[in-house]
Amino acid sequence: MSYNDKEIFDLIQEEQSRQKTGLELIASENYVSDDVLAAAGSILTNKYAEGYPGKRYYGGCEVVDEIETIAIERAKELFNAEYVNVQPHSGSQANTAVFHACLKPGDKILGFDLSHGGHLTHGSPVNFSGQLYKTSFYGVEKETGLLNYEKIQSIAEQEKPKLIIAGASAYSREIDYKKFRDIANSVNAILLADIAHPAGLIAKGILQDAVQFSHICTSTTHKTLRGPRGGIIIMGKDFENPFGQKLKNGNLKKMSSLLNSGVFPGNQGGPLEHIIAAKAVAFKEALSENFLHYMVQVKKNAKAMASEFIKRDYHIISGGTDNHMMLIDLRNKNITGKQAEEALGKSHITVNKNMVPFDDQSPFITSGIRIGTAAITTRGLVESDMAEIVKLIDMVISNPENDETLNNCKEFVNNFITDYPLFKN
Ligand code: PLP
Repeated sequence: MSYNDKEIFDLIQEEQSRQKTGLELIASENYVSDDVLAAAGSILTNKYAEGYPGKRYYGGCEVVDEIETIAIERAKELFNAEYVNVQPHSGSQANTAVFHACLKPGDKILGFDLSHGGHLTHGSPVNFSGQLYKTSFYGVEKETGLLNYEKIQSIAEQEKPKLIIAGASAYSREIDYKKFRDIANSVNAILLADIAHPAGLIAKGILQDAVQFSHICTSTTHKTLRGPRGGIIIMGKDFENPFGQKLKNGNLKKMSSLLNSGVFPGNQGGPLEHIIAAKAVAFKEALSENFLHYMVQVKKNAKAMASEFIKRDYHIISGGTDNHMMLIDLRNKNITGKQAEEALGKSHITVNKNMVPFDDQSPFITSGIRIGTAAITTRGLVESDMAEIVKLIDMVISNPENDETLNNCKEFVNNFITDYPLFKN
């Protein structure tokens, strides 16, 4: 098909070729299926549908009502949940909506420190969450790179937050949501599990079930879940007093309606029904047996990759991985995260620079990189490919200014990856 806006469509073509010919190792990215892509690019983008299925503020919503209901039902099945809201435009919007529903400005929250692996929306001073609410933080131990639940307990006792967030953007170990729930219960706090990263692994039972142990869960749909960019809010079967005093005798209906109002009209207007359709398609894919095999392989690949890095004397924070990602401290390699990201980029290997716990560099420079296996596993790479990839990364990181090395690596990557084609078109 040809398009009128050549400038933009040429650039989309260029980006498609970049995605096809490079090694995508950004832990929060993935490649969606052609079906997900088609739904996301469909005429549903034309439709306004403020409200929820059966209760809209616009006419002509019969079809999108059906689509949104299917998306909700599929997500409920996938996460064994009682309630799902599929409207948040992103993971950040999902968190905003939960905060809006559960907190008043000035209430205290306890979150994972951004510089130790948390997310902006968990209380960072540059984000609404750090500006509207009082914040307190937990982090990882310097020696082990691991969460220390006893310390989190004592911080919670001291700070008495109204809401605790369990979840991370750069933590490679399993999070114990049950322990977090015990901590939340002991200080009468709401537990929000933000499973944006490991959602796919959790949905398939490969990591501990956050939905079962938290009051509320939020997630993105585009990382390990392999759907379109977007967010969701989930509640499991435990509705015991999750809003503290407010809903002492609360029931699912009251809580659902508070969360729904937190999304619309609290934080958003019209939902993106084309994206909701794409989420529905992705949830169906994630319910399949194939997706279980995929998630198992993502985890195997991450483990294999981490052990290859360790063999080459790379410092993986916490010494390994239980999920789809790892955080590498490059300080013993005499290169910053920024330099490594740039040199790897020239070799068509995409990673992101990332702060490591107790970093002495700024967030623009950083001492580390974060790497994930969700996207390369979608392309079909397996454990035996990981040694080759780590060898290439090591070559680049050891010679970041040697153009010949970077060029040779780029050619190798481009040839290697053509055996793993993407996209039908
Ligand atoms: N929560 C966590 C833990 C994340 O890692 C992210 C994204 O990286 C988000 C929330 C926000 O997602 P989005 O970028 O869709 O707003």
